[in-house]
Amino acid sequence: MPPLKEPEKNHTVTVPPSKALIAAETDVLVVGGGPSGLGASLGAARAGARVILAERYGFVGGASTVALVMPLMSAHTQEPVLRKPGKEYLFPTDHGDGKRVIAGVLLELVNRLIENGGATPPTIDTGYVVPFDPEILKYTALCMLDEAGVEILFHAYAFNYRNTDSPEVFFHTKSGPVVIKAKFVVDCTGDGDIAAYAGAKYEIGRDSDGLTQPMTKYFRMVGFNRPAFLEYIKKHPEQWYGVFGLWDLVEKATNDGKLKLPREDILMFSTPHEHEVSVNSTRVSNALSTNAFDLTRAEYESRFQVHEVSEFLKLYVPGFEDSYMIQSGTQIGIREARRITGDYVLTGQDIIEARKFSDVIARCAYSLDIHNPKGKGTRIERLPPGESYDIPLRCLLPLNLKRILIAGRCISGTHEAHSSYRIMPAAMATGQAAGVCAAIAAREFSDIHSIRPLLVQNELLRQEADLGDVFQR
Ligand SMILES: Cc1cc2nc3c(=O)[nH]c(=O)nc-3n(C[C@H](O)[C@H](O)[C@H](O)COP(=O)(O)OP(=O)(O)OC[C@H]3O[C@@H](n4cnc5c(N)ncnc54)[C@H](O)[C@@H]3O)c2cc1C
Repeated sequence: MPPLKEPEKNHTVTVPPSKALIAAETDVLVVGGGPSGLGASLGAARAGARVILAERYGFVGGASTVALVMPLMSAHTQEPVLRKPGKEYLFPTDHGDGKRVIAGVLLELVNRLIENGGATPPTIDTGYVVPFDPEILKYTALCMLDEAGVEILFHAYAFNYRNTDSPEVFFHTKSGPVVIKAKFVVDCTGDGDIAAYAGAKYEIGRDSDGLTQPMTKYFRMVGFNRPAFLEYIKKHPEQWYGVFGLWDLVEKATNDGKLKLPREDILMFSTPHEHEVSVNSTRVSNALSTNAFDLTRAEYESRFQVHEVSEFLKLYVPGFEDSYMIQSGTQIGIREARRITGDYVLTGQDIIEARKFSDVIARCAYSLDIHNPKGKGTRIERLPPGESYDIPLRCLLPLNLKRILIAGRCISGTHEAHSSYRIMPAAMATGQAAGVCAAIAAREFSDIHSIRPLLVQNELLRQEADLGDVFQR
């Protein structure tokens, strides 16, 4: 059966009025339990606020667990140099020394994942990325939230927002509609749902045609024979560039009629487990995550692609003969949706020029990384070696909204800038900053736009965030 198409006519009915159960009143409500939501919840709770985290699924982690997006990208100035032919490794190995530019809750999560056997330490040999186990991440992140005293409501889908005396967010739950009242709300939904419900200004996609980066359904292959694979790429060095390649095999399978891949190569990553890889090779273009019909088509198409790619690996790629797919993302991975317009709009130029801002609340060194919204190919533009850029507090403050902050991939930036700060370490860092800012605003009962950046920076430094030479800006 094909996916249901969006109706051509906009016929509607009025939804019967209903009552919502008042579940709680809190200082800070964080909606969305992905990397930014984890950062925001921990940042706000450690700054002394009562915090409730509401999440649509029954576990935290967002794209890292829901969509199996692995690994955590580099939090260092030197990122993986992927375009070096003939590397035997599933990770490249030729980097200069990198400086870590993100710490705080991200660093704590990474260290605790390593302690729990759920991550490989970031080293120069792996380009500072952090391969992790998503199940151990779910557990480790939950422990951190628990210790910080964050209260959680799972299986709660936010569907509306109202600002009366205090902001109210409405959720669909199995108990029927539920409302949580809060002094301040941090929108960590990735898609910017809450800010959009509240009437925020936002943009979607690139300027030329509004298209966003494609979606990708990740999957995990186990039973992988790493030595056999490495032996193959040793013999065919031109076929593997660190984490992607196999062009000839892809072409052969395509000519054999076994593969219709919307990208030209296979992209896959090591995990902490010797006999496992995570595969990022499916691609669905022209679909928006804020449209139920597009999202359905994306899930539908990517499911067929996952099947094809996993069969291709088993049939064509040495080392995968006895492997099998053990898991695919509960939900397709969404790279890009709404970008909420804030008091400042970060640009690609700011990133490439490694710009610094006096109201810095997070730093990042990842390149511009735009997967072609229309088909094959990926555009990468790097920062100068050893450099990082600042993310200003103003990017977390939606224009004209006083009680909602944004964090993660929906913060204020252009399509180009978004392709860099969307990575999970940066999302955790902007989350932590938004949580801290919300907690301070709740304490002072102040409009978010009038919070002094210095207060946020001082609390972030107390929470061991890395803001570089913040007071020299
Ligand atoms: C295919 C792909 C590959 C990527 N590769 C990497 C990589 O290798 N390394 C890296 O670091 N980053 C990578 N990224 C980017 C990164 O995963 C995301 O940008 C990042 O997870 C964004 O974090 P977030 O917290 O803003 O949003 P998300 O991770 O999307 O989390 C949002 C959370 O909010 C919840 N939610 C959404 N709407 C609602 C609602 N209405 N009500 C309640 N809950 C809601 C969701 O269930 C989810 O838990 C990749 C992304 C994709 C899609």
